[in-house]
Amino acid sequence: MSIETFYRDSWAEVDLSAVDYNIKQLKGRLPEEVGIYAVVKANAYGHGDLQIAKQALESGAKALAVSLLDEAIKLREAGIDAPILVMGWVRPGDVEIAARLDVSLTVFQKEWLEEVSRLDLPCTLKLHMKWDTGMGRIGIRSAEEMDILLNGISKNSMLELEAVFTHFATADEEDLDYFQVQSDRLEQLLNHLKKVWKDPVQIHTGNSAASMRFPEHMKHYVRFGISMYGLYPSEVVKREKPIDLHPSFSLKTRLIHVKKLAAGEFISYGATYETQEEEWIGTVPLGYADGWIRKLQGMEVLVDGKRLPIVGRICMDQFMIRLDQEYPLGTMVTLIGKDKGQQEISTDEVADYLDTINYEIPCMISYRVPRIYLKNGQIVEVDNSL
Ligand SMILES: *Cc1c(COP(=O)(O)O)cnc(C)c1O
Repeated sequence: MSIETFYRDSWAEVDLSAVDYNIKQLKGRLPEEVGIYAVVKANAYGHGDLQIAKQALESGAKALAVSLLDEAIKLREAGIDAPILVMGWVRPGDVEIAARLDVSLTVFQKEWLEEVSRLDLPCTLKLHMKWDTGMGRIGIRSAEEMDILLNGISKNSMLELEAVFTHFATADEEDLDYFQVQSDRLEQLLNHLKKVWKDPVQIHTGNSAASMRFPEHMKHYVRFGISMYGLYPSEVVKREKPIDLHPSFSLKTRLIHVKKLAAGEFISYGATYETQEEEWIGTVPLGYADGWIRKLQGMEVLVDGKRLPIVGRICMDQFMIRLDQEYPLGTMVTLIGKDKGQQEISTDEVADYLDTINYEIPCMISYRVPRIYLKNGQIVEVDNSL
């Protein structure tokens, strides 16, 4: 469910113009003929799958990639008719739904293919064969396994091999030895495929890191995820900066309570923070149920362009900030993003604080936080999934 408004003072802003900019930057770096799959799994990394999918297609992406059949069905039911690939494993009993909705599925298991082959499919099922060149997750690893799958596909007129693909484990790292190992294995498998399969097949390999760093090595398509949202896949790639990116996600709330406390007063569960002097303390209506997890205690936020610390434990729906002065109720507090154009708290900084990667941060901001969509600085949509 998505409604046009919401009744709380916490929200995320998603800048669709930034997504447009990032896609165009990548397009400018890739050879003309290389197409882009916009990766919109996990609700578009927390940004909103329908909104990002529509923007990505408008900005020049040719197709969409998700992880789950449910995610693909949601896109189709919303009227998106671009090609959609499910990159994860789908239960054989569910593939008929994919065939009917013209959703492409990933194949890599002979048991899976045997079960699918026994079905009486109502229409053609498009398949992308996954090659495990070193990720060690899913995919065939040898030419023998490839032959078994190709044989199974060729025997069933309802199955079409649309593409083959692989995924790199270390394309974002300084040391590219393992990336080279995977690239070599990919070439060997491609050589084998060329010998035994004469129908046209698409090839897609690179994620954000590989497509930005090695554009000339990309095949027919790349799968563009994290950097479409304006984040670099690693510190190494951020330093190299193969293309310029604009972050698209910010997170904001407002002061809903401001008070002056005497020295020696305590804040929040466990009374872990004690005021050292007379202090101004602000409360905001956002907590761990919104994805602002308890480990973020001590992290800074922006108030009026200034960095101020979160004090005391983060509660389920609220947390407290040590203010440097009194502020009016309703003053905006920025958790991720720019405030007054002066200071910025980036998604990367939040990820560093939590000792994790930036991918995890927008993903963890929960359904309870409404998303406001902006284009050229104007609000174009409000999505309150609650
Ligand atoms: C998530 C995913 C991607 C996108 O990776 P980014 O690093 O976000 O660009 C590409 N391919 C596969 C198979 C994935 O699972």
